[in-house]
Amino acid sequence: MSRTPYVRPAIGEMAGYTPGFQPPRGSQIIKLNTNENPYPPSPAVATAIRKAAENHERLRLYPDPVSSRLRQTAAEIYGVTAEQVMAGNGSDDLLRILLDTFVDPGEQVGFFDPSYSLYPVLAQIRGASPKAFAFDPATPEPIITTTGIKLFFLTNPHAPYGLGFSNHFIRRMADQLNGILVVDEAYGDFAKESALSLLDQCQNLVVTRTFSKSYALAAMRVGLAFAVPMLIAEMDKARDSYNLDLLAQEAATAALLDQAYLEKTVTRIKEMRQKFNRQLTEKNFTTYPSQSNFIFTIPPAGFKAGDLYHYLQQHQVLVRYFSTPPLDRGIRITIGTPEQMEQVLDIINKFLSEKEN
Ligand code: PMP
Repeated sequence: MSRTPYVRPAIGEMAGYTPGFQPPRGSQIIKLNTNENPYPPSPAVATAIRKAAENHERLRLYPDPVSSRLRQTAAEIYGVTAEQVMAGNGSDDLLRILLDTFVDPGEQVGFFDPSYSLYPVLAQIRGASPKAFAFDPATPEPIITTTGIKLFFLTNPHAPYGLGFSNHFIRRMADQLNGILVVDEAYGDFAKESALSLLDQCQNLVVTRTFSKSYALAAMRVGLAFAVPMLIAEMDKARDSYNLDLLAQEAATAALLDQAYLEKTVTRIKEMRQKFNRQLTEKNFTTYPSQSNFIFTIPPAGFKAGDLYHYLQQHQVLVRYFSTPPLDRGIRITIGTPEQMEQVLDIINKFLSEKEN
């Protein structure tokens, strides 16, 4: 296809981000490819959405531009002030706001490779210069030189390996960086540590969270950013004036207020993660210790990850396969319900025995 002469070169020359496949509604597939929660959101969410949707006056008017109730609720739950929180239309929105606020075109944006592949795309859209630092899970806390980096995206826990970086490592990185350190805690509720406890000590730290995973609200598109008030105030200027719709604000607030429900589902997922990890290890898979709601696993010698991915797909199980090295050695499997994981394991067993014969 020929390219319009009007496009900015930065956009024309880039490939764009490819999100994980979303099967059509009603599909019977076991969907373990984009790290959604296998459990429904808190029942309080549907009640809150229904209530808001039935109030015609509220639908007719613009929503609260600053999502103040959501910010206040988040501040209370996470033990910070409301001035230290802002909400985004998904955490992806916040990542873009971060670049618009802190990075000028031509400046360098750092991140580990592999990690979340949206970072370089957003950096390119901004006209910034993406700088990838090779990440090898064998050296999970590498010393890197961040001179000249204006903003660094650190996915913690790491995606797609699932490994957790310690707060000690994050503190050191924040101290060393002459720019903004973004700790993307999309999977933070499944992890041992959170960088939120470092906020008061690190003036250049921003922690982002999402409602898409632990809170089971991927469809509502809500994320949060936490930082010192000075940084949040600047980010607030760079967002869309009504970046969260009314239903998203209500849904996220209701989800936050039901911490007991969150704890229950997160515990279930973590227990399943541990069990599934053990089951894979028993089958000689190499599995990285995950602090997320997914596992990255490499099949035993003689078996190809790409073949396993296709085999699972033929058997109605969708997982994530990244076809370029070094990730092509393994597949990333979202932790589902015990019933789903039992089915996945059965199919993996079949794959191993069929390919052996
Ligand atoms: N960061 C990471 C590391 C992710 O994996 C994802 C989900 N793809 C996001 C951010 C974006 O989450 P959200 O749905 O809140 O935009």
